[in-house]
Amino acid sequence: EHGLFYRDTWVEVDLDCITANVAAVRKRLPAEVTIIGVVKANAYGHGDYQTAMAALNAGASMLAVAFMDEALSLRVKGINAPILVLGASRPEDVTIAAKNNIILTVFQREWIEKAQSFLAANANLSLHIKVDTGMGRIGVRNIEELREIEEAINKDSRLVFAGVFTHFATADELDNHYFLDQLERFDEMVSSLSSRPPCVHGSNSAAALRYGKANFNAIRLGIVMYGLSPSQEIKADLPIKLEEAFSLHSKLTQVKLIKRGEKISYGGTYEAEQDEWVGTIPIGYADGWIRRLQDQEVLIDGIRSPIIGRICMDQTIVRLPHQVEVGTVVTLIGKQGDAAVPIDEIADKLDTINYEIPCLISSRVPRLYK
Ligand code: PLP
Repeated sequence: EHGLFYRDTWVEVDLDCITANVAAVRKRLPAEVTIIGVVKANAYGHGDYQTAMAALNAGASMLAVAFMDEALSLRVKGINAPILVLGASRPEDVTIAAKNNIILTVFQREWIEKAQSFLAANANLSLHIKVDTGMGRIGVRNIEELREIEEAINKDSRLVFAGVFTHFATADELDNHYFLDQLERFDEMVSSLSSRPPCVHGSNSAAALRYGKANFNAIRLGIVMYGLSPSQEIKADLPIKLEEAFSLHSKLTQVKLIKRGEKISYGGTYEAEQDEWVGTIPIGYADGWIRRLQDQEVLIDGIRSPIIGRICMDQTIVRLPHQVEVGTVVTLIGKQGDAAVPIDEIADKLDTINYEIPCLISSRVPRLYK
């Protein structure tokens, strides 16, 4: 009875949207540019395995995650495509990486020395060198270090110098000065290598869609795959139409008419100004539907209806547009008829970026696929 769940709150992930978004990017790219589908953080909350499969079917040929745990989770589920771990891994974990054909990111000479002491004589481990060109997060910061690491990899027959990459800090901003500086720096660093590895990549979604010359021979496609814009300022200028894959739904568990003056939820912060219909839905802050979403509107019968009173750990109360049946679907993110609550609206309400919203909806909420 796999896939069974017993609560009336769920996330729906439309894999056709992911397929369409990846295919639209694929169509714009020259054939020699590989799409690396970024499926870290459980594919930005969408489900790592299903997203990976959809991305691979639509033209991605490699995957990227943040940590080795995430790469192993994909291997366990049967994904055989190449997987790159973008973040730092522990040198003592190289054996398990090699065994599972997982590509690791390296940016410190000492890391390689430590890793070598753990690797078996017949091991085979692919590495990408990360170059810090201005993000300031992880990466080699100068040509000397880069050359040293390249040499250390090439000297050890168990290690494969498979790639070099960087990450842009401002590719999603209209002002491209910092981006162009980073690109130039990356070009310079890559040119200093004694040989170019097979995979050279810099672009995230924003850079991939906006600056063809930054694509080298692979791009790392994250947010656009999910149908979301990398930022609000470039949203109107994106060259492809995005289809949002993630939606969030619940069902009314109780419907009641409350009288004028009656109060709702902890602290009694909401008081009915007139007799009105209200309903309860089984979703709360423990699902990532955090308390700051009080007053946010949800869709009921295609009509925007406000959350009233404080959001509880597992339940939330809404004001209904009219009397509706228990069991009526409430859409917290997504569409009902012509009405829509896009992820960007929730991000705006929470003063954050759209990336954070599907990540925020906790694993307590089952993901359904269509
Ligand atoms: N590459 C790296 C190193 C990242 O950290 C991320 C995500 O933050 C991505 C690529 C994907 O970026 P985006 O989701 O903007 O396409």
